[in-house]
Amino acid sequence: MRSHALIIVGGGLAGLRAAIGAADRGVDCAVVSLVHPVRSHSGAAQGGINASLGNHPDAGDDDPQSHAFDTVKGSDYLGDQDAIRILCEEAPARIYELEHWGTPFSRFSDGRIAQRPLGGATYPRACYAADKTGHYLLHTVYERAVSLGLRIYDEYSVQEIVVDEGRCVGLVAYDLKGGTIEGFAAEAVILATGGSGRLYGRSTSALINIGAGVAMAYRVGVPVKDPEFVQFHPTTLYGTNILISEGCRGEGGYLLNSEQERFMERYAPQFMELAPRDLVARSIQQEINEGRGIDGQPYVHLDLRHLGMSVIQDRLPGIRDLCIHFAGIDPVEQPIPIQPGQHYSMGGIDVTCEGATCIEGLFAVGEAACLSVHGANRLGGNSLLETIVFGARVGESAAAFVGKTKSDGNRIESAVDNAVRAFEAKLKALIENPATENPYAMRSQVTEIMDSHVQVFRTREGLEEAVARLRELRARYAGVRLRNGGRVFNLDMLRVLELDVMIDLALASAVAALAREESRGAHFRADFKARDDANWLKHTLAYRTEEGPRIAYKPVVVDQFQPQERKY
Ligand SMILES: Cc1cc2nc3c(=O)[nH]c(=O)nc-3n(C[C@H](O)[C@H](O)[C@H](O)COP(=O)(O)OP(=O)(O)OC[C@H]3O[C@@H](n4cnc5c(N)ncnc54)[C@H](O)[C@@H]3O)c2cc1C
Repeated sequence: MRSHALIIVGGGLAGLRAAIGAADRGVDCAVVSLVHPVRSHSGAAQGGINASLGNHPDAGDDDPQSHAFDTVKGSDYLGDQDAIRILCEEAPARIYELEHWGTPFSRFSDGRIAQRPLGGATYPRACYAADKTGHYLLHTVYERAVSLGLRIYDEYSVQEIVVDEGRCVGLVAYDLKGGTIEGFAAEAVILATGGSGRLYGRSTSALINIGAGVAMAYRVGVPVKDPEFVQFHPTTLYGTNILISEGCRGEGGYLLNSEQERFMERYAPQFMELAPRDLVARSIQQEINEGRGIDGQPYVHLDLRHLGMSVIQDRLPGIRDLCIHFAGIDPVEQPIPIQPGQHYSMGGIDVTCEGATCIEGLFAVGEAACLSVHGANRLGGNSLLETIVFGARVGESAAAFVGKTKSDGNRIESAVDNAVRAFEAKLKALIENPATENPYAMRSQVTEIMDSHVQVFRTREGLEEAVARLRELRARYAGVRLRNGGRVFNLDMLRVLELDVMIDLALASAVAALAREESRGAHFRADFKARDDANWLKHTLAYRTEEGPRIAYKPVVVDQFQPQERKY
């Protein structure tokens, strides 16, 4: 059995930054990751990472306080203000740290880090490296982790958290290359497995982002916080739903309907295309629903032509490539067909500002976690920032936890051993089950249900149908067929196990959305159009039970900024 003081599940920005934070404190830690770290979804981030550096000529008197206010307002007042303050106050120092570690940020002509406007921000404060910000950050942080000699186990799919008498003591993983089920003993575990975007078919997320870590925590009794809050990015490429960065609108791109109108004038006269994402996504969807999509199709145009070749080539080269390769369109000459698509999970594992869950020794960070700094709607550029600021913080707090715990090594090993044996037995039963349900057809049904009913505009009827159909899939899962009984790189087995995760999380999201009878941020109920602070200024907590999710609530931390009407 492998054993480390601290194990971090996930090698994206959050996981690697947490590992560096812990390793810097001399803790023996290892990263266990499904894909090689630099293939994590963090590497796909495009537009930027926020910090109130004040480098832009229009930055005015930008400061962490202003960044915090924009974030709280953007969150539709559901964000926890203590966590948001930490995010915004620590941002500048963390950006300079990344710069000193070697991130090649784009720069202004005076040499300072360049910044661009993103949606919902009063001042331009997104630092960027062209339109490949995540790629450069991930490589920088990965190199740092390698230089510290961090142990990385890649191509291991973690399946279960092991809890012994209320304490997390390790995990069970499937080693894809070796074809074995492995136990890992640990004093503490940090889950940094990313978001659950692939519960949807139309999503900008990597295919592996199904919320595995969220489901693992959910199954050992940790609640999922705010699962109904799902961000739909306004501009995803029609046909493939590849992300077309908000940086395009930040650089001056605008949206046009079939009547060649800049329709954002009607919805957000002051911020126009740079209103927050929930508002812009709804506006686009409404234009489409009312028949003003281009040629009657479900998309509108994002026009960059007026920016000219040199701006596009210099600041948005990746977007140009994506459009040419995936849509056969050169944005220098043609407008880009776009529609809203799933982009980000605001909800996730319920944690404190130190990343602690309700289970001792179990921590979470990054998109898998919900602190909550994004509340009901995340601002562009705040998620990369969350992975870095809270990655460091949670890595340090888990290291401190490990430093002060005393545990019985034999006891831990036997608990992990038992969990490995139980998991082997579960796999054997799955392989020997003479079942007939096709897991791939069921997976498509989950994503179709989410695309159709738990989407930009929600209604009671739609959500009731989603819940009923997901419950039916939950029951049918017992009869799911696993054809391939092999061990090495058995992706068939992984897909069958993933389906279980997806049904659990989709159901939690749909049940929570049905319960929340108001509209706030990305959760828009066509039958309850107003925000209702008197009854709903609270976080959802979904607990897993055999009968389905049990919903409870907890207060939002509101101290400095009292809820106001959002105007953009
Ligand atoms: C296309 C795109 C563009 C974006 N652009 C921006 C942007 O410009 N600015 C911004 O602020 N945010 C952006 N975001 C959001 C931001 O990139 C993500 O929220 C953030 O990078 C998530 O980081 P993470 O470390 O939490 O997860 P990820 O980077 O998704 O990493 C998850 C890790 O978990 C591992 N893992 C998953 N399941 C398992 C398992 N079962 N066992 C073992 N390991 C597992 C994976 O191998 C991976 O290493 C963007 C997101 C997308 C999809």
